[in-house]
Amino acid sequence: MSNNTHGAEGQGCSRRLIVLEQREGVLKSTSVDLWHRMQMQCKGSRLSAVLLGPVDKENPSLQLSGPGVIHHACDERLRRYDPRLYRRIIGELFEEGGFSELLFADTALSRDLAPALSVRLGASLLSRCSALPEAGRCHRRLYSGAAEGTFVASSPRAIVTVSPSSILLQPATVFLPDILPLAVPAAEHDDLPSIVRQVVRREGMVDVAEAGVVVAGGRGMGSAEGFALLEELASLFGGAVGASRTVVDEGWRPHGEQIGQTGKSIAPRLYIACGISGAVQHLSGISGAGTVVAINRDSHAPIFEVADFGLVGDVGEVLPEFVAALKEFLKMQ
Ligand SMILES: Cc1cc2nc3c(=O)[nH]c(=O)nc-3n(C[C@H](O)[C@H](O)[C@H](O)COP(=O)(O)OP(=O)(O)OC[C@H]3O[C@@H](n4cnc5c(N)ncnc54)[C@H](O)[C@@H]3O)c2cc1C
Repeated sequence: MSNNTHGAEGQGCSRRLIVLEQREGVLKSTSVDLWHRMQMQCKGSRLSAVLLGPVDKENPSLQLSGPGVIHHACDERLRRYDPRLYRRIIGELFEEGGFSELLFADTALSRDLAPALSVRLGASLLSRCSALPEAGRCHRRLYSGAAEGTFVASSPRAIVTVSPSSILLQPATVFLPDILPLAVPAAEHDDLPSIVRQVVRREGMVDVAEAGVVVAGGRGMGSAEGFALLEELASLFGGAVGASRTVVDEGWRPHGEQIGQTGKSIAPRLYIACGISGAVQHLSGISGAGTVVAINRDSHAPIFEVADFGLVGDVGEVLPEFVAALKEFLKMQ
């Protein structure tokens, strides 16, 4: 028996397949967010999702609430992203299940996988939507929020990537999704992995796209050494360090920390931009952030136009005081 409401049917919820991501055995918070947003939109109808790779730190069904089924291929070969195998498994499940829409959170993985799957499945690609699509339409903020574009799929199938949101939703429901094991096809000749270089994040570091607090630095930090203060500030918050592209191009920080159009989209509750001018390409990556704080010595820097709190000053003077004050505050807690 289906418990779909009329509204949920209108959204075609039963024909949508959500791609959940794990990283190093942990379900990504962007995936949990996407699942729960879908639950709210689909008003209690059963959702379908696919999850590739083992999740050994916590049972995925305990982190996701609401009715549905998760097709879980819990195979060691899928622990790390393998483009060919991921493409094949998700593509086959999509075809066999008769789905019409494939949904991803906008992440580094989906930026690689979604376009490839759109070619394989002959589906339209609607990328970086600011919210879940409705009736095949998705909206995307353009020119750092100055305009909004509406994108409509031109084929009956669509692949949609959705920007993360800092607003945490947790539907009130007693249902937990069922987990269905998904078989992994035997490796074919062209499935042989060809890993050229693997960049592994340092143990204990929080991924900038997953963090609740992000402290980011731009050219104004002056040097790679200047980021020591940001690392200290981020660790006091239990957050992550982010960077502008200039900083990454200079080799001061790794590309995995870059925020923006050619980096990651982030949705922390708190974003602190230090010595970052606020170019549109950078701002497009922080549109999902909650509270934005900017520290810049130029009072006309564009970052102040999107900041909730702005501090005009030199990072070399402001940040040590900020770190010291925060330490004092935390000591009193
Ligand atoms: C196709 C394309 C894609 C791009 N993708 C991205 C992207 O994904 N992410 C991204 O970030 N950029 C991206 N860019 C680059 C972007 O246009 C900007 O060049 C870049 O974001 C600027 O980085 P920044 O703010 O660190 O440096 P700058 O623009 O040089 O700004 C430095 C800021 O620091 C301030 N400052 C200097 N010294 C101090 C100090 N001591 N104390 C306080 N403030 C100080 C200055 O007033 C200035 O506002 C892209 C560009 C293109 C063309």
